[in-house]
Amino acid sequence: MQLSTDQRDNQTAFARFSDERLLPHANAWDRAERLDDSVIADLAAARWLVPTLPAEAGGQAMAAETYGLLSEELGRGCGSVRNLVAVQGMVAHAILKWGNAGLRDRWAPAIGTGEVIGSFALTEPEVGSDARNGTTTARKVLDGYEITGTKKWISFAQRAGVFLVFARLDDDPAAFVVERGTPGLTVDPITGLLGLRASELGEIRLDSVVVPETNLVSHGRLTFDLVATTSLDYGRYSTAYGAVGLAQGCLDASLDYARDRVQFSVPLAEHQLVRRTLTEMVTSVEAARLLCRQAGSMRGSSHRDAVRQTLIAKYFATRAAYQVATEAVQLHGANGVGPDYPVQRHLRDAKIQEIIEGTTQIQQIQIADLTLARS
Ligand SMILES: Cc1cc2nc3c(=O)[nH]c(=O)nc-3n(C[C@H](O)[C@H](O)[C@H](O)COP(=O)(O)OP(=O)(O)OC[C@H]3O[C@@H](n4cnc5c(N)ncnc54)[C@H](O)[C@@H]3O)c2cc1C
Repeated sequence: MQLSTDQRDNQTAFARFSDERLLPHANAWDRAERLDDSVIADLAAARWLVPTLPAEAGGQAMAAETYGLLSEELGRGCGSVRNLVAVQGMVAHAILKWGNAGLRDRWAPAIGTGEVIGSFALTEPEVGSDARNGTTTARKVLDGYEITGTKKWISFAQRAGVFLVFARLDDDPAAFVVERGTPGLTVDPITGLLGLRASELGEIRLDSVVVPETNLVSHGRLTFDLVATTSLDYGRYSTAYGAVGLAQGCLDASLDYARDRVQFSVPLAEHQLVRRTLTEMVTSVEAARLLCRQAGSMRGSSHRDAVRQTLIAKYFATRAAYQVATEAVQLHGANGVGPDYPVQRHLRDAKIQEIIEGTTQIQQIQIADLTLARS
């Protein structure tokens, strides 16, 4: 699949950003378990924080195919930055699509311009894959809705100024906007993760948190499918492309290392077994990229199979990325597990990609279900 001239120009700009602004710092952010504020400001200035939003909301109405290229380059540089951009898109688009005019006007531009960071609060301590059965509850009170429950593993909760919180209201799913600082809301940082360590995760406790009636984004039987599922589909597309970038980063590092490192009097690249490893890596990267391009093209044309293709791309690309990353670490030997090369961070981040936005096993179920249901 050939890129257009415009797409190629964009890709060059994204790659430069990744090389100059992400790769030199990503290991340090990983160790600090925090992103630098300046990189978020740079993303906002480039209108890349939620590039798919319309211009008046801080985006640039970026097409799905180009957004995929951005996700790939961010993923090549720093998985947590890619995760940040995915989550901002999930929250901003959900509010823009399903929220009332007041919520749309207040929050979509604020998130799009980086004035406020958003978090997508679905998962709970006891409910992950089975997210439809969350136990956080909301009830109507005199001055709005009162929400009680706990959300866990929430990306950028430590930094977020606004949370999109899913709860049950009158036995149907509902989604609410909850502002940081609302009485009863506390955020405890989660540290020491295996990967995506700079994603500033948190556990959110909502203890009788009262939000105004107007903060209800959606309520009803279809809320989960309309709001949560479409947001996860958006995030999954970013994760799939990000996994391609991660794998490409591992391949690039491995090619350099195999050319430079000499063992048994020749560069590693001269050993046949090393060449075989490189062949496996490059084939996986290119196959994963083609699946992402196919998903991107279907998303761009609102094809009815786009959701299934995105699932397939995410399933394949994240598994491939983990495999490529583990081969890259092996090829680097001790340097592969040391602090100076990106491959050990990529390996840890790759495992996380198989868990977020639907685990590999849940996708095995969903892809078969959707494929069997096709006429
Ligand atoms: C770094 C990171 C960032 C995250 N960010 C967010 C965020 O911003 N917002 C948010 O809401 N959540 C977030 N999450 C949570 C993430 O979405 C969940 O971890 C994920 O959905 C899986 O849920 P779980 O961890 O509870 O695993 P579980 O659902 O308990 O699953 C445990 C294991 O059982 C398997 N399993 C479960 N059900 C089945 C089945 N039916 N058949 C076969 N196998 C099954 C799973 O595949 C998995 O291997 C994040 C997680 C991480 C690690």
